[in-house]
Amino acid sequence: ATAIDLSDPEWKLKYQRDFEERFNIPHITDAFPDAEAIPSTFCLKMRSPTYINNKDRVLLKVINYSSPASAGAVCIDPDCTWIEQWVQRAGPRENIYFRPEDVKAAIVTCGGLCPGLNDVIRLIVITLEIYGVKNIVGIPFGYRGFSDKNLPEIPLSRKVVQNIHLSGGSLLGVSRGGPTVTEIVDSMEERGINMLFVLGGNGTHAGANAIHNECVKRRMKVAVVGVPKTIDNDILHMDKTFGFDTAVEEAQRAINSAYIEAHSAYHGIGVVKLMGRSSGFIAMQASLASGQVDICLIPEVPFNFHGPDGVLKHLNYLIETKGSAVVCVAEGAGQSFLENTNAKDASGNKVLGDIGVHIQQETKKYFKENGVAADVKYIDPTYMIRAVRANASDGILCTVLGQNAVHGAFAGYSGITVGIINNHYAYLPIPEVNAYDKSVDPNSRMWHRCLTSTGQPDFL
Ligand code: ATP
Ligand code: MG
Repeated sequence: ATAIDLSDPEWKLKYQRDFEERFNIPHITDAFPDAEAIPSTFCLKMRSPTYINNKDRVLLKVINYSSPASAGAVCIDPDCTWIEQWVQRAGPRENIYFRPEDVKAAIVTCGGLCPGLNDVIRLIVITLEIYGVKNIVGIPFGYRGFSDKNLPEIPLSRKVVQNIHLSGGSLLGVSRGGPTVTEIVDSMEERGINMLFVLGGNGTHAGANAIHNECVKRRMKVAVVGVPKTIDNDILHMDKTFGFDTAVEEAQRAINSAYIEAHSAYHGIGVVKLMGRSSGFIAMQASLASGQVDICLIPEVPFNFHGPDGVLKHLNYLIETKGSAVVCVAEGAGQSFLENTNAKDASGNKVLGDIGVHIQQETKKYFKENGVAADVKYIDPTYMIRAVRANASDGILCTVLGQNAVHGAFAGYSGITVGIINNHYAYLPIPEVNAYDKSVDPNSRMWHRCLTSTGQPDFL
Protein backbone atom coordinates (compact mmCIF):
# COMPACT_ATOMS: atom_id res chain seq x y z
CA ALA A 1 0.00 0.00 0.00
CA THR A 2 1.13 3.54 -0.73
CA ALA A 3 1.94 5.69 2.28
CA ILE A 4 -0.70 8.36 2.70
CA ASP A 5 0.32 11.99 2.71
CA LEU A 6 -2.66 13.73 4.30
CA SER A 7 -1.30 17.18 3.37
CA ASP A 8 -1.75 16.37 -0.31
CA PRO A 9 -5.21 17.71 -1.28
CA GLU A 10 -5.50 14.86 -3.78
CA TRP A 11 -4.64 12.13 -1.28
CA LYS A 12 -8.08 10.63 -1.10
CA LEU A 13 -8.38 10.28 -4.84
CA LYS A 14 -4.88 8.86 -5.14
CA TYR A 15 -5.41 6.41 -2.33
CA GLN A 16 -8.66 5.18 -3.78
CA ARG A 17 -7.13 4.79 -7.25
CA ASP A 18 -4.21 2.89 -5.77
CA PHE A 19 -6.57 0.66 -3.81
CA GLU A 20 -8.74 -0.10 -6.82
CA GLU A 21 -5.69 -0.96 -8.86
CA ARG A 22 -4.35 -3.29 -6.21
CA PHE A 23 -7.65 -5.08 -5.73
CA ASN A 24 -8.53 -5.31 -9.41
CA ILE A 25 -8.67 -9.03 -10.10
CA PRO A 26 -6.66 -10.35 -13.06
CA HIS A 27 -8.67 -11.53 -16.06
CA ILE A 28 -7.83 -13.77 -18.99
CA THR A 29 -8.40 -10.87 -21.39
CA ASP A 30 -5.41 -9.07 -19.77
CA ALA A 31 -3.17 -11.56 -21.58
CA PHE A 32 -5.59 -12.60 -24.32
CA PRO A 33 -7.49 -9.47 -25.40
CA ASP A 34 -9.22 -11.47 -28.14
CA ALA A 35 -10.50 -14.21 -25.83
CA GLU A 36 -14.06 -14.96 -26.83
CA ALA A 37 -16.86 -14.05 -24.40
CA ILE A 38 -19.53 -16.74 -24.45
CA PRO A 39 -22.99 -16.08 -22.96
CA SER A 40 -23.46 -18.19 -19.84
CA THR A 41 -26.46 -20.45 -19.42
CA PHE A 42 -25.82 -21.09 -15.74
CA CYS A 43 -28.58 -18.91 -14.29
CA LEU A 44 -31.11 -20.23 -16.77
CA LYS A 45 -30.20 -23.80 -15.87
CA MET A 46 -30.36 -23.12 -12.15
CA ARG A 47 -33.42 -20.85 -12.30
CA SER A 48 -31.13 -18.45 -10.48
CA PRO A 49 -32.24 -14.82 -10.24
CA THR A 50 -29.45 -12.85 -11.95
CA TYR A 51 -25.82 -12.74 -12.89
CA ILE A 52 -23.37 -10.67 -10.90
CA ASN A 53 -22.29 -7.56 -12.74
CA ASN A 54 -18.54 -7.06 -13.06
CA LYS A 55 -19.02 -3.64 -11.48
CA ASP A 56 -20.72 -5.04 -8.36
CA ARG A 57 -18.73 -4.38 -5.25
CA VAL A 58 -18.56 -5.53 -1.64
CA LEU A 59 -17.59 -3.05 1.05
CA LEU A 60 -14.29 -4.12 2.55
CA LYS A 61 -13.76 -1.28 4.98
CA VAL A 62 -14.56 2.29 5.81
CA ILE A 63 -11.43 3.87 7.16
CA ASN A 64 -11.39 7.05 9.15
CA TYR A 65 -7.89 8.43 8.98
CA SER A 66 -8.58 11.15 11.53
CA SER A 67 -8.79 8.32 14.04
CA PRO A 68 -6.87 5.25 12.86
CA ALA A 69 -7.98 3.20 15.87
CA SER A 70 -11.53 3.17 14.59
CA ALA A 71 -10.60 1.53 11.28
CA GLY A 72 -13.53 -0.55 10.19
CA ALA A 73 -16.15 1.69 11.79
CA VAL A 74 -18.30 4.02 9.73
CA CYS A 75 -17.34 7.64 10.18
CA ILE A 76 -20.29 9.98 10.49
CA ASP A 77 -18.33 13.17 11.01
CA PRO A 78 -18.69 15.12 7.71
CA ASP A 79 -15.24 16.69 8.14
CA CYS A 80 -13.39 13.48 8.79
CA THR A 81 -10.98 12.03 6.30
CA TRP A 82 -12.74 8.79 5.59
CA ILE A 83 -12.40 6.56 2.61
CA GLU A 84 -14.23 3.47 1.53
CA GLN A 85 -12.62 0.37 0.13
CA TRP A 86 -14.67 -1.79 -2.20
CA VAL A 87 -13.74 -5.15 -3.65
CA GLN A 88 -15.21 -7.22 -6.46
CA ARG A 89 -18.24 -9.33 -5.72
CA ALA A 90 -18.13 -13.06 -6.35
CA GLY A 91 -20.73 -15.01 -8.31
CA PRO A 92 -21.78 -16.15 -11.79
CA ARG A 93 -21.08 -13.76 -14.66
CA GLU A 94 -23.14 -13.24 -17.78
CA ASN A 95 -20.17 -14.08 -19.98
CA ILE A 96 -17.89 -17.05 -19.62
CA TYR A 97 -14.44 -17.43 -21.19
CA PHE A 98 -14.21 -21.20 -21.39
CA ARG A 99 -16.31 -23.64 -23.44
CA PRO A 100 -17.33 -26.32 -20.92
CA GLU A 101 -16.49 -29.08 -23.42
CA ASP A 102 -12.92 -27.74 -23.71
CA VAL A 103 -12.32 -27.61 -19.98
CA LYS A 104 -10.13 -29.97 -18.05
CA ALA A 105 -10.47 -28.93 -14.43
CA ALA A 106 -8.16 -30.07 -11.63
CA ILE A 107 -8.51 -29.71 -7.88
CA VAL A 108 -5.60 -29.89 -5.45
CA THR A 109 -5.52 -29.66 -1.65
CA CYS A 110 -2.23 -28.70 0.04
CA GLY A 111 -0.83 -28.02 3.52
CA GLY A 112 -2.43 -29.40 6.66
CA LEU A 113 -5.93 -30.78 7.13
CA CYS A 114 -8.82 -28.47 7.87
CA PRO A 115 -12.52 -29.22 8.41
CA GLY A 116 -14.49 -28.51 5.24
CA LEU A 117 -11.95 -29.50 2.55
CA ASN A 118 -14.28 -32.23 1.28
CA ASP A 119 -17.24 -29.84 1.31
CA VAL A 120 -15.35 -27.43 -0.96
CA ILE A 121 -14.15 -30.22 -3.30
CA ARG A 122 -17.73 -31.48 -3.51
CA LEU A 123 -19.21 -28.15 -4.50
CA ILE A 124 -16.47 -27.39 -7.02
CA VAL A 125 -17.19 -30.69 -8.78
CA ILE A 126 -20.96 -30.30 -8.65
CA THR A 127 -20.84 -26.73 -9.94
CA LEU A 128 -18.40 -27.64 -12.73
CA GLU A 129 -20.83 -30.35 -13.84
CA ILE A 130 -23.69 -27.88 -13.89
CA TYR A 131 -21.61 -25.69 -16.23
CA GLY A 132 -21.25 -28.79 -18.40
CA VAL A 133 -17.67 -29.81 -17.62
CA LYS A 134 -17.06 -33.54 -18.06
CA ASN A 135 -13.33 -33.73 -17.50
CA ILE A 136 -12.67 -33.15 -13.78
CA VAL A 137 -9.73 -34.65 -11.90
CA GLY A 138 -8.23 -34.51 -8.44
CA ILE A 139 -4.47 -34.17 -8.04
CA PRO A 140 -3.49 -36.55 -5.21
CA PHE A 141 -1.48 -35.42 -2.17
CA GLY A 142 -1.09 -31.72 -2.87
CA TYR A 143 1.36 -30.27 -5.37
CA ARG A 144 3.37 -33.47 -5.04
CA GLY A 145 0.73 -35.22 -7.19
CA PHE A 146 1.85 -33.10 -10.15
CA SER A 147 5.31 -34.66 -10.22
CA ASP A 148 5.02 -38.10 -8.65
CA LYS A 149 4.44 -40.59 -11.45
CA ASN A 150 3.13 -43.15 -8.93
CA LEU A 151 0.18 -40.91 -8.11
CA PRO A 152 -2.43 -41.05 -10.88
CA GLU A 153 -5.12 -38.39 -11.28
CA ILE A 154 -8.38 -39.12 -9.47
CA PRO A 155 -11.40 -38.82 -11.79
CA LEU A 156 -14.12 -36.75 -10.11
CA SER A 157 -17.85 -36.54 -10.71
CA ARG A 158 -21.00 -35.80 -8.72
CA LYS A 159 -21.26 -39.52 -8.06
CA VAL A 160 -17.77 -39.68 -6.56
CA VAL A 161 -18.15 -36.60 -4.36
CA GLN A 162 -21.80 -36.93 -3.36
CA ASN A 163 -21.14 -38.00 0.24
CA ILE A 164 -17.52 -37.01 0.87
CA HIS A 165 -18.50 -34.10 3.13
CA LEU A 166 -19.81 -36.60 5.67
CA SER A 167 -16.25 -37.22 6.79
CA GLY A 168 -13.33 -34.95 7.60
CA GLY A 169 -9.93 -34.92 5.90
CA SER A 170 -9.43 -34.54 2.16
CA LEU A 171 -10.59 -37.08 -0.40
CA LEU A 172 -7.54 -36.12 -2.46
CA GLY A 173 -4.96 -36.22 0.33
CA VAL A 174 -2.62 -33.37 1.29
CA SER A 175 1.12 -32.82 1.51
CA ARG A 176 3.81 -30.21 2.11
CA GLY A 177 6.79 -29.46 -0.11
CA GLY A 178 6.88 -30.98 -3.59
CA PRO A 179 7.73 -29.88 -7.13
CA THR A 180 8.77 -26.42 -8.31
CA VAL A 181 6.33 -24.07 -10.03
CA THR A 182 8.00 -24.80 -13.38
CA GLU A 183 7.48 -28.53 -12.89
CA ILE A 184 3.85 -27.99 -11.88
CA VAL A 185 3.09 -25.87 -14.95
CA ASP A 186 4.94 -28.36 -17.20
CA SER A 187 2.72 -31.06 -15.80
CA MET A 188 -0.42 -28.96 -16.29
CA GLU A 189 0.55 -28.36 -19.90
CA GLU A 190 1.16 -32.04 -20.45
CA ARG A 191 -2.17 -32.99 -18.87
CA GLY A 192 -4.08 -30.23 -20.65
CA ILE A 193 -5.39 -28.70 -17.43
CA ASN A 194 -6.92 -25.27 -18.06
CA MET A 195 -8.76 -24.74 -14.78
CA LEU A 196 -6.97 -25.25 -11.49
CA PHE A 197 -8.65 -25.01 -8.11
CA VAL A 198 -6.19 -24.77 -5.27
CA LEU A 199 -7.27 -25.31 -1.68
CA GLY A 200 -4.66 -24.33 0.86
CA GLY A 201 -3.09 -21.74 3.12
CA ASN A 202 -0.57 -18.96 2.57
CA GLY A 203 2.10 -21.29 1.13
CA THR A 204 -0.36 -22.92 -1.25
CA HIS A 205 -1.64 -19.51 -2.35
CA ALA A 206 1.89 -18.24 -2.98
CA GLY A 207 2.27 -21.33 -5.17
CA ALA A 208 -1.07 -20.72 -6.91
CA ASN A 209 -0.12 -17.14 -7.73
CA ALA A 210 3.25 -18.26 -9.07
CA ILE A 211 1.47 -20.90 -11.20
CA HIS A 212 -0.88 -18.20 -12.52
CA ASN A 213 2.06 -15.94 -13.42
CA GLU A 214 3.93 -18.78 -15.08
CA CYS A 215 0.85 -19.65 -17.16
CA VAL A 216 0.55 -16.03 -18.28
CA LYS A 217 4.24 -16.02 -19.15
CA ARG A 218 3.84 -19.16 -21.25
CA ARG A 219 0.67 -17.75 -22.81
CA MET A 220 -1.44 -20.62 -21.51
CA LYS A 221 -5.14 -19.78 -21.24
CA VAL A 222 -5.63 -21.10 -17.72
CA ALA A 223 -7.74 -20.03 -14.75
CA VAL A 224 -6.10 -20.56 -11.36
CA VAL A 225 -8.49 -20.00 -8.47
CA GLY A 226 -7.70 -20.44 -4.79
CA VAL A 227 -9.95 -21.18 -1.85
CA PRO A 228 -8.22 -20.15 1.39
CA LYS A 229 -7.89 -23.03 3.82
CA THR A 230 -6.56 -21.89 7.14
CA ILE A 231 -7.94 -23.26 10.35
CA ASP A 232 -6.06 -20.45 12.16
CA ASN A 233 -8.27 -17.83 10.44
CA ASP A 234 -5.15 -15.83 9.61
CA ILE A 235 -6.02 -14.75 6.06
CA LEU A 236 -6.28 -11.01 5.55
CA HIS A 237 -9.55 -9.20 4.83
CA MET A 238 -11.87 -12.15 5.33
CA ASP A 239 -14.52 -12.36 8.05
CA LYS A 240 -13.44 -15.93 8.61
CA THR A 241 -12.06 -18.88 6.70
CA PHE A 242 -13.69 -22.28 6.50
CA GLY A 243 -12.85 -24.73 9.26
CA PHE A 244 -12.25 -22.04 11.85
CA ASP A 245 -15.75 -22.15 13.30
CA THR A 246 -15.62 -25.94 13.50
CA ALA A 247 -12.20 -25.78 15.18
CA VAL A 248 -13.44 -23.37 17.85
CA GLU A 249 -16.43 -25.60 18.48
CA GLU A 250 -14.38 -28.79 18.66
CA ALA A 251 -11.82 -27.09 20.93
CA GLN A 252 -14.59 -26.73 23.51
CA ARG A 253 -14.42 -30.45 24.12
CA ALA A 254 -10.70 -30.32 24.90
CA ILE A 255 -11.12 -27.30 27.16
CA ASN A 256 -14.00 -28.92 28.97
CA SER A 257 -11.96 -32.10 29.49
CA ALA A 258 -9.07 -30.03 30.84
CA TYR A 259 -11.50 -28.26 33.15
CA ILE A 260 -13.00 -31.51 34.43
CA GLU A 261 -9.55 -33.00 35.00
CA ALA A 262 -8.34 -29.87 36.77
CA HIS A 263 -11.49 -29.45 38.81
CA SER A 264 -11.59 -33.09 39.90
CA ALA A 265 -7.95 -33.25 40.99
CA TYR A 266 -6.47 -31.75 44.14
CA HIS A 267 -4.79 -28.55 42.93
CA GLY A 268 -5.44 -29.55 39.35
CA ILE A 269 -4.12 -27.52 36.42
CA GLY A 270 -5.30 -28.29 32.88
CA VAL A 271 -3.25 -27.04 29.94
CA VAL A 272 -4.74 -27.09 26.42
CA LYS A 273 -2.69 -26.21 23.35
CA LEU A 274 -4.67 -25.08 20.33
CA MET A 275 -3.72 -24.26 16.74
CA GLY A 276 -2.46 -20.80 15.86
CA ARG A 277 1.10 -20.48 14.60
CA SER A 278 1.17 -16.72 14.38
CA SER A 279 -2.43 -15.80 15.18
CA GLY A 280 -4.32 -16.60 18.35
CA PHE A 281 -7.86 -16.48 16.97
CA ILE A 282 -8.73 -20.09 17.86
CA ALA A 283 -7.35 -19.83 21.42
CA MET A 284 -9.09 -16.48 21.94
CA GLN A 285 -12.47 -17.54 20.55
CA ALA A 286 -12.38 -20.95 22.22
CA SER A 287 -11.55 -19.33 25.57
CA LEU A 288 -14.34 -16.82 25.10
CA ALA A 289 -16.84 -19.47 24.12
CA SER A 290 -16.01 -21.93 26.90
CA GLY A 291 -15.91 -19.57 29.86
CA GLN A 292 -13.76 -22.22 31.58
CA VAL A 293 -10.35 -20.76 30.82
CA ASP A 294 -8.39 -18.81 33.46
CA ILE A 295 -5.36 -17.96 31.34
CA CYS A 296 -5.32 -17.51 27.56
CA LEU A 297 -1.94 -17.06 25.89
CA ILE A 298 -1.57 -16.05 22.24
CA PRO A 299 1.41 -15.21 19.99
CA GLU A 300 0.38 -11.57 19.57
CA VAL A 301 0.54 -10.74 23.27
CA PRO A 302 3.92 -11.12 24.98
CA PHE A 303 3.88 -12.59 28.45
CA ASN A 304 6.24 -13.15 31.30
CA PHE A 305 6.42 -16.67 32.65
CA HIS A 306 8.61 -16.78 35.75
CA GLY A 307 8.59 -13.15 36.90
CA PRO A 308 6.73 -11.65 39.86
CA ASP A 309 3.80 -10.81 37.56
CA GLY A 310 4.23 -13.91 35.42
CA VAL A 311 1.97 -16.79 34.49
CA LEU A 312 3.31 -19.12 37.21
CA LYS A 313 2.64 -16.60 39.95
CA HIS A 314 -0.94 -16.24 38.74
CA LEU A 315 -1.36 -20.01 38.58
CA ASN A 316 -0.22 -20.14 42.19
CA TYR A 317 -2.82 -17.52 43.06
CA LEU A 318 -5.54 -19.47 41.23
CA ILE A 319 -4.63 -22.68 43.06
CA GLU A 320 -4.71 -20.84 46.40
CA THR A 321 -8.05 -19.13 45.72
CA LYS A 322 -9.96 -21.45 43.37
CA GLY A 323 -8.17 -24.73 43.88
CA SER A 324 -7.80 -25.40 40.14
CA ALA A 325 -6.96 -23.62 36.87
CA VAL A 326 -7.23 -24.02 33.10
CA VAL A 327 -4.67 -22.61 30.66
CA CYS A 328 -5.38 -22.30 26.94
CA VAL A 329 -2.31 -21.59 24.82
CA ALA A 330 -1.91 -21.07 21.08
CA GLU A 331 0.91 -23.14 19.56
CA GLY A 332 2.83 -20.07 18.42
CA ALA A 333 2.75 -18.33 21.82
CA GLY A 334 5.82 -18.03 24.02
CA GLN A 335 8.23 -19.31 21.38
CA SER A 336 10.98 -17.12 22.86
CA PHE A 337 11.04 -19.39 25.93
CA LEU A 338 11.85 -22.42 23.80
CA GLU A 339 15.05 -23.58 22.22
CA ASN A 340 15.29 -22.45 18.59
CA THR A 341 16.21 -25.51 16.53
CA ASN A 342 16.03 -23.71 13.16
CA ALA A 343 14.25 -26.82 11.89
CA LYS A 344 12.02 -26.40 8.81
CA ASP A 345 9.25 -28.61 7.43
CA ALA A 346 9.10 -29.78 3.79
CA SER A 347 7.43 -26.49 2.75
CA GLY A 348 10.07 -24.37 4.50
CA ASN A 349 7.87 -23.42 7.48
CA LYS A 350 9.65 -23.08 10.82
CA VAL A 351 9.02 -26.06 13.11
CA LEU A 352 7.70 -24.63 16.37
CA GLY A 353 8.74 -25.81 19.81
CA ASP A 354 6.01 -27.34 21.97
CA ILE A 355 4.86 -24.56 24.28
CA GLY A 356 2.27 -26.87 25.88
CA VAL A 357 4.92 -29.32 27.08
CA HIS A 358 7.05 -26.40 28.25
CA ILE A 359 4.20 -24.94 30.33
CA GLN A 360 3.45 -28.34 31.80
CA GLN A 361 7.08 -29.00 32.79
CA GLU A 362 7.77 -25.52 34.13
CA THR A 363 4.54 -25.52 36.12
CA LYS A 364 5.34 -28.88 37.71
CA LYS A 365 8.83 -27.68 38.56
CA TYR A 366 7.58 -24.40 40.00
CA PHE A 367 5.05 -25.97 42.33
CA LYS A 368 7.47 -28.67 43.42
CA GLU A 369 10.14 -26.10 44.24
CA ASN A 370 7.61 -24.13 46.27
CA GLY A 371 6.46 -27.22 48.12
CA VAL A 372 2.90 -26.89 46.85
CA ALA A 373 1.09 -29.92 45.47
CA ALA A 374 -0.09 -29.49 41.88
CA ASP A 375 -1.48 -31.98 39.39
CA VAL A 376 -0.74 -30.75 35.87
CA LYS A 377 -2.40 -32.35 32.84
CA TYR A 378 -1.66 -31.40 29.26
CA ILE A 379 -4.00 -31.92 26.31
CA ASP A 380 -3.00 -31.34 22.68
CA PRO A 381 -6.17 -31.91 20.61
CA THR A 382 -4.70 -30.52 17.35
CA TYR A 383 -5.00 -33.60 15.15
CA MET A 384 -8.38 -34.53 16.61
CA ILE A 385 -9.72 -31.08 15.77
CA ARG A 386 -8.26 -30.89 12.28
CA ALA A 387 -9.79 -34.21 11.29
CA VAL A 388 -13.43 -33.58 12.18
CA ARG A 389 -16.03 -32.83 9.54
CA ALA A 390 -17.23 -29.27 9.07
CA ASN A 391 -20.05 -28.05 11.29
CA ALA A 392 -23.23 -26.56 9.84
CA SER A 393 -21.94 -23.02 9.59
CA ASP A 394 -18.68 -24.06 7.90
CA GLY A 395 -20.61 -26.47 5.67
CA ILE A 396 -22.58 -23.54 4.27
CA LEU A 397 -19.47 -21.36 3.92
CA CYS A 398 -17.68 -24.16 2.00
CA THR A 399 -20.66 -24.61 -0.28
CA VAL A 400 -20.72 -20.95 -1.27
CA LEU A 401 -16.93 -20.71 -1.62
CA GLY A 402 -16.80 -23.83 -3.80
CA GLN A 403 -19.53 -22.53 -6.10
CA ASN A 404 -17.94 -19.10 -6.35
CA ALA A 405 -14.54 -20.55 -7.14
CA VAL A 406 -16.04 -22.19 -10.23
CA HIS A 407 -17.97 -19.04 -11.22
CA GLY A 408 -14.70 -17.08 -10.97
CA ALA A 409 -12.81 -19.53 -13.20
CA PHE A 410 -15.55 -19.60 -15.84
CA ALA A 411 -15.76 -15.80 -15.75
CA GLY A 412 -12.11 -15.84 -16.84
CA TYR A 413 -10.51 -14.65 -13.63
CA SER A 414 -7.17 -16.13 -12.64
CA GLY A 415 -4.74 -15.59 -9.77
CA ILE A 416 -7.68 -14.91 -7.51
CA THR A 417 -9.08 -16.27 -4.30
CA VAL A 418 -12.56 -16.20 -2.83
CA GLY A 419 -13.72 -15.22 0.62
CA ILE A 420 -16.51 -13.87 2.78
CA ILE A 421 -16.23 -10.16 3.54
CA ASN A 422 -18.79 -8.30 5.63
CA ASN A 423 -21.18 -11.19 5.04
CA HIS A 424 -20.83 -11.02 1.25
CA TYR A 425 -18.67 -13.12 -1.03
CA ALA A 426 -15.84 -11.49 -2.94
CA TYR A 427 -12.93 -12.20 -5.28
CA LEU A 428 -9.53 -10.86 -4.29
CA PRO A 429 -6.17 -10.96 -6.07
CA ILE A 430 -3.97 -13.50 -4.28
CA PRO A 431 -1.06 -11.14 -3.43
CA GLU A 432 -3.42 -8.91 -1.42
CA VAL A 433 -4.58 -11.69 0.89
CA ASN A 434 -1.08 -13.13 1.12
CA ALA A 435 0.80 -9.94 2.00
CA TYR A 436 1.09 -10.99 5.64
CA ASP A 437 -0.84 -13.05 8.21
CA LYS A 438 -3.93 -11.58 9.84
CA SER A 439 -3.51 -11.54 13.60
CA VAL A 440 -5.39 -10.69 16.78
CA ASP A 441 -5.10 -6.99 17.59
CA PRO A 442 -4.07 -6.83 21.28
CA ASN A 443 -5.93 -3.50 21.48
CA SER A 444 -9.11 -4.89 20.00
CA ARG A 445 -12.33 -5.16 21.94
CA MET A 446 -12.44 -8.89 21.30
CA TRP A 447 -9.11 -9.55 23.01
CA HIS A 448 -10.22 -7.38 25.93
CA ARG A 449 -13.47 -9.29 26.13
CA CYS A 450 -11.37 -12.43 26.37
CA LEU A 451 -9.35 -10.89 29.21
CA THR A 452 -12.58 -9.93 30.97
CA SER A 453 -13.79 -13.50 30.62
CA THR A 454 -10.61 -15.17 31.92
CA GLY A 455 -9.88 -12.54 34.55
CA GLN A 456 -6.15 -12.81 33.85
CA PRO A 457 -3.79 -9.91 34.51
CA ASP A 458 -1.17 -8.60 32.05
CA PHE A 459 1.75 -10.95 32.53
CA LEU A 460 4.38 -8.24 32.14
P1 ATP B 1 -1.12 -24.53 6.14
O1 ATP B 1 -2.11 -23.53 6.59
O2 ATP B 1 -1.57 -25.92 6.42
O3 ATP B 1 0.27 -24.25 6.59
P2 ATP B 1 -0.05 -23.86 3.58
O4 ATP B 1 -0.65 -23.75 2.24
O5 ATP B 1 0.60 -22.62 4.11
O6 ATP B 1 -1.15 -24.43 4.54
P3 ATP B 1 2.51 -25.14 3.19
O7 ATP B 1 2.93 -26.51 3.57
O8 ATP B 1 3.29 -24.00 3.71
O9 ATP B 1 1.00 -25.07 3.59
O10 ATP B 1 2.52 -25.01 1.59
C1 ATP B 1 1.73 -25.85 0.77
C2 ATP B 1 2.35 -26.06 -0.56
O11 ATP B 1 2.66 -24.81 -1.18
C3 ATP B 1 3.63 -26.86 -0.51
O12 ATP B 1 3.54 -27.90 -1.44
C4 ATP B 1 4.72 -25.86 -0.82
O13 ATP B 1 5.75 -26.45 -1.56
C5 ATP B 1 4.01 -24.81 -1.64
N1 ATP B 1 4.57 -23.46 -1.39
C6 ATP B 1 4.77 -22.89 -0.19
N2 ATP B 1 5.29 -21.66 -0.32
C7 ATP B 1 5.44 -21.45 -1.64
C8 ATP B 1 5.96 -20.36 -2.44
N3 ATP B 1 6.39 -19.23 -1.88
N4 ATP B 1 5.95 -20.51 -3.78
C9 ATP B 1 5.52 -21.65 -4.35
N5 ATP B 1 5.02 -22.70 -3.67
C10 ATP B 1 4.99 -22.62 -2.34
MG1 MG C 1 1.05 -21.95 6.06
